[in-house]
This record gives sequence, structure tokens and C-alpha cells, in this order.
Amino acid sequence: MNFALQIGKIAGIPIRLHITFLAIIPVVAYLFGTFSQLVYGKPYGFGAVEPLELRWIYSLAFSILLFTCVVLHELGHSFVAMRYGIKIRSITLYILGGVASMEDIPRDPARELKMAIAGPLVSGAIGAGCVLLSNPSAAILGEFHPLTTLLWSLGIINLILMIFNLIPAFPMDGGRVLRAWFASRMPYAAATTRAANIGKMFAIAMGLLGLLSFNVFLILIAFFVYIGASEEDKATSISVTLDGIKVKDMMSSDVRTVAPETDLKDLVEMMFREKHRGYPVVQAEKLVGIVTISDVQKVPDPMRASTTVGQIMNKKIYVIRPEDEATDAMKKMAERQIRRLPVLENERLVGILSRSDMLRAIEICSGW
Ligand code: ZN
Repeated sequence: MNFALQIGKIAGIPIRLHITFLAIIPVVAYLFGTFSQLVYGKPYGFGAVEPLELRWIYSLAFSILLFTCVVLHELGHSFVAMRYGIKIRSITLYILGGVASMEDIPRDPARELKMAIAGPLVSGAIGAGCVLLSNPSAAILGEFHPLTTLLWSLGIINLILMIFNLIPAFPMDGGRVLRAWFASRMPYAAATTRAANIGKMFAIAMGLLGLLSFNVFLILIAFFVYIGASEEDKATSISVTLDGIKVKDMMSSDVRTVAPETDLKDLVEMMFREKHRGYPVVQAEKLVGIVTISDVQKVPDPMRASTTVGQIMNKKIYVIRPEDEATDAMKKMAERQIRRLPVLENERLVGILSRSDMLRAIEICSGW
């Protein structure tokens, strides 16, 4: 999922294009070109400029403008979020739309509502503006002028974008609006479950409609909405469950460590005996690395007796402190795709937190 290209920064927010998005630009340009040809079916008559070429220039302009509109939609969310002091990591454009990645989404319904509604409002304003502008353009330049087509199509698409995003289903903005509305009346987790269930019903209805009308695109969106709704529900109930729980409450303080000089043969024996899949590497009471079974597996068997932990260990270590929130630890693990985090206090290793420790704690807390 990390195949994204950073194209610039707006207000300090990196704007990234995901590889799937790059694929859609020529498709959109092509669709716009075919569309304007189908609808108007005649050359644009621009004197010296070859009409066909001109049409493609407008098509390309259209797809770039459309992409700009999606970024503006995400910036709408981001600016409101930034006003509440939330950090925006990046805005990434995927094939199905943009995603603003935020540090922490507030559990305050009033704030969430404003943040969620800001995006569709931006799309609606651009949409209305473009449609309005297409009128004078039609009057002055002509109804069939590519600029008129461009303004009109951009306007309609932005209005569709607004309506689509207001569908009351996660991960659409409408889902967040709905959750915020429920959350002002009931606990946050319950509000999320209710909003997610409504989202799932929408997804099923959309899927059925897609099946009946043989619309593959609609079926795809239905899937995307259904999965989005379930994920949101799950993630929220976990983070609500972990609320107020600190790393020190969940970590194992009995940490087994290895020295960099340990050879891999001994390490493998240790792993088998103690049934651990990874160890922090400690030298002179300082954490210098982490070694896991997958690092060992890269070394062929005959070489293991002559290779030391220090040679293969991972020196890039992500750590966490005992006083940190458990939810932060979970986010860190998910982001870096790691299974365990050493816990450091004043540079000293005091524990280790593994994904299985956390899962166990969640099960205990939520009584599964
Ligand atoms: Zn949005």
C-alpha cells in the first residue's frame, strides 16, 4: 500500500498519488474525450488549432482539474481538523478517491461532524460554482465549446462527489456525520456500531442493485463500503476498549534478551526452548537491536554457528515508553507492521509489548 508518489505540499501537508490513482488519469481523460465527442459529435472549430488535439488538451486539463477537486475536498476536512490541533500526516489519492491520514480523530461529536461535513461542502461549492460558470461560458463561447463542456462536467462530477460522500455509510463522510449524530445521544462505541450497521445495510442494498443491473462498479463500491463499515466498527471498539490503558499495564516485564555475540545456533535453540519468536539485543545494558526468527531464517543452516546475532539483527528499533497509551502502541505496530515493541524507560529496557499481549488484554477487557 506504500506505492505512493509525493507530488508536493500544501500548508505543510504532503500530497501523495497512489499508484492506482496514476492509472486512472489517462482513463478519465479518455472518458472525457469520448464523452464530449459522443454528446456534441462535432469539431470545435477553433480556427488554426486542430480540433481533435484541442479536445485532448481539454480532456487532460479535465482530469487534472478533477484530481485537484478531490485534493480540495480532502483539504476541506484537513483544515477543519488542523483548527482543532489535529496533525495531518498526508493526503493520498487512491483510485476510488482521496484519503487524509490524520493523527487522531476526535471522539467529540460536534468536532467530528464539522470535520466530516467540510469535505462534501467543498465539493458542493466547487460543483455549484462550475455549473453556474458554464452558463456565461455557453452564452459567450457557445454551448459546444470545450470550455463549456469542461465547466459543466466538472460541476456535475463535483455535485455527484458531494452526494456520494454524504451516503450515510462508513468509510464515506456521511457515515461519520451519522456516527457523530448518534454519538451525541449514546456512548461512542455504540454509536459507531449503529452507524456501521446502517452502512452495511446500504452496502447490501447497493450490492443487490448492482447485481440486478449488472453494474460491476456498483458491486465493487458495495464491497468497499461493507468492509469499510466493519473495519471502522472493529477499530473503534478496540480503541475504546483500550482507553486509559497504559503500555505498562500490558507489557511483559520479564524480558529475555540476547547479546550481540550470541551465535545463531544458540539463538535458535533458545527460541525453541522458550517459544519466543524474537528477542531484544542488549549490550552493556543498552538496547542495540532486535532479532526475530525471520532474520535467522535468511541465514543458511551451515552458516548459523559462525554468524552472530550482531551481524543480522535489526538496528532500526521502534520503542515505546511505559507511560504511553496502549492505543498508541497498537497504532505504531500497525503502521510499521511489527509484532513487538521494546519498552524503554530512561534508556533502560523495562519490558516488551507484543501484539499477542495486546490481543489478550483486549479479550479480557471486552469479555469475548
Ligand atoms: Zn471526504
